[in-house]
Amino acid sequence: MTTPALTAPNMEDYAATRAEFSWPWARHLLDGLPGGGLNIAHEAVDRHTAGPRRSHVALRCLSRQGGPARDLSYEDLRQLTNRFANVLDGLGVGPGEVVFTLSGRVPELYVAVLGTLKHRSVASPLFSAFGPEPIRQRIARGDGRVLMTTRALYERKVAPIRHELPGLAHVLIVDGALDMLRVDAGDAADDVAAVRARLGDLPEGTRSLGELMAAADRHYRIGPTDPEAMALLHFTSGTTGTPKGAIHVHEAVVAHHLTGRLVLDLHADDVFWCTADPGWVTGTSYGIISPLTLGVTSIVDEGEFDAERWYRTLQEQRVTVWYTAPTAIRMLMKAGPELAAGYDLSHVRVIASVGEPLNPEAVVWGREVLGLPILDNWWQTETGGIMIANYPSMPVRPGSMGRPLPGIEATVVERDEHGTVVLGADGAPVPVPTGTEGEMVLRAGWPSMFRGYLNDDERYAKCFGGGWYLTGDLARVDDDGYFWFIGRGDDVIKSAGHLIGPFEVESVLMEHPAVAEAGVIGVPDPIAGEVVKAFVTLRHGFTASDELRQEILGVARRRLGPAVAPRSIELRDTLPRTRSGKIMRRLLKARELGLPEGDLSTLEDGS
Ligand code: ATP
Ligand code: MG
Repeated sequence: MTTPALTAPNMEDYAATRAEFSWPWARHLLDGLPGGGLNIAHEAVDRHTAGPRRSHVALRCLSRQGGPARDLSYEDLRQLTNRFANVLDGLGVGPGEVVFTLSGRVPELYVAVLGTLKHRSVASPLFSAFGPEPIRQRIARGDGRVLMTTRALYERKVAPIRHELPGLAHVLIVDGALDMLRVDAGDAADDVAAVRARLGDLPEGTRSLGELMAAADRHYRIGPTDPEAMALLHFTSGTTGTPKGAIHVHEAVVAHHLTGRLVLDLHADDVFWCTADPGWVTGTSYGIISPLTLGVTSIVDEGEFDAERWYRTLQEQRVTVWYTAPTAIRMLMKAGPELAAGYDLSHVRVIASVGEPLNPEAVVWGREVLGLPILDNWWQTETGGIMIANYPSMPVRPGSMGRPLPGIEATVVERDEHGTVVLGADGAPVPVPTGTEGEMVLRAGWPSMFRGYLNDDERYAKCFGGGWYLTGDLARVDDDGYFWFIGRGDDVIKSAGHLIGPFEVESVLMEHPAVAEAGVIGVPDPIAGEVVKAFVTLRHGFTASDELRQEILGVARRRLGPAVAPRSIELRDTLPRTRSGKIMRRLLKARELGLPEGDLSTLEDGS
């Protein structure tokens, strides 16, 4: 195991690395296919199996119920993904056709995604808690040819809509698939019969993935893969509207690998845990691909968030690098420092977070309670990989997203009064002076940049100006090049001539000992245009009262000043959030103003 104190970061000097960096250099960290081309699954799996890494644990899978972990070595994974690719061949599925998965975080999901990539088909993992309509919509929009799912999910969610998906030729039922295969033995006939007897008959119109895999060859040669060939289809989180389908290509693996090395600081002996579900881009880029390209052991936990379970997992699995999200951190904070103190987390070397702004208090809490600052980083489904980050070797400024990845040029540009990015005479966006707020843009052309929005070329084209990708997020940069998140362009509040970012207000509210989470919106006001309204949930041990509300309001006024502080605060039991944990401010606003709620496909149950 890598010892925290003895492990030198992969990137010791940010400025020097940045100055020397080139993408061709990053590409040379990977092998490429023997006959030329670049395939994500080759880099993640096959290339490790020629040497001693062959028997290293690639995935350690923890089941929801507990019990012994199922370990898959790199060689196991090679053979299983070969079989999966052969199954697709046998079904007559072609390269470029879309294979959807709909399951919890079971090992077969990881096999299916990587096997699909080997086959040069397109992988699109769906979040298993989606209802039938979001599933139907996504499979229809992506023109899905194959769906891998569980029997229970099929019967409840897919069977009722199957007739509306005429293009969906094959449904593969995953249940028991790995139990049917004695991975190293080759001949799996006995296991297949026994497991089949246990599982009973399958629903009509479906086939057993395990049976197909058992009958498939363990050998497979990846065909020539154009780095620009489509590899992944990811739907965005739907925080600001209807989810968009972002298209990614095999070349993205160059960025997945590089960021795993420089940001997550993965070393060969690390045990890495990314808590995201592959239904969201983080759970694929960093829950599947990135750690495997670095040959480390990755923890796959089927279970949902539970503070004790997570601390126990960190301890028992001796996790060294942990990638999670602000909501999870805030829930751990809510659970109290005493709980954390009961676990040995001394082997954890890096903790990183993504998905939402990480309030400064959470960074400080990490340092005090977990012994490490939490390293915030920023990216989007569209960027395919981490773009702005705090690195283990760089001083952390709590509340800042950090600095751009070597190879990424980021800046902040001007927007006009309608919120449109201002383009100069050369067609490129106009940078604002240091310290000024504006829209964050990235120079187009990094390997994991999305190559399109599914069936929406017009929207894709609108994301670019003069060779820059317009992120839609507002930020400012300080004198040392650290980026500070202000808010999403759509969420920014315009009050009496001020532009107010919800994050600034929410961060201050969350510093109050009673506040667990806060969501801030603008509501119309005849004089100021908009005024700030905050919705707040309380930590354990605090009871909602008018007095407490007034007190929080008073603190916010003192800290933020009357122009920026919330005009009113509403105490709530919960805030509406996406299934990936992001506060849906648009929904807070729609409900507050009695407006249509819009797309709710990614809304968490009970929000
Ligand atoms: P949609 O595009 O459908 O509205 P979404 O933007 O939430 O949903 P994702 O691609 O999953 O979908 O999320 C990317 C967004 O999440 C970023 O544009 C940003 O607003 C927010 N985000 C991600 N990381 C951070 C971070 N470290 N700090 C602040 N915001 C972040
Ligand atoms: Mg977005």
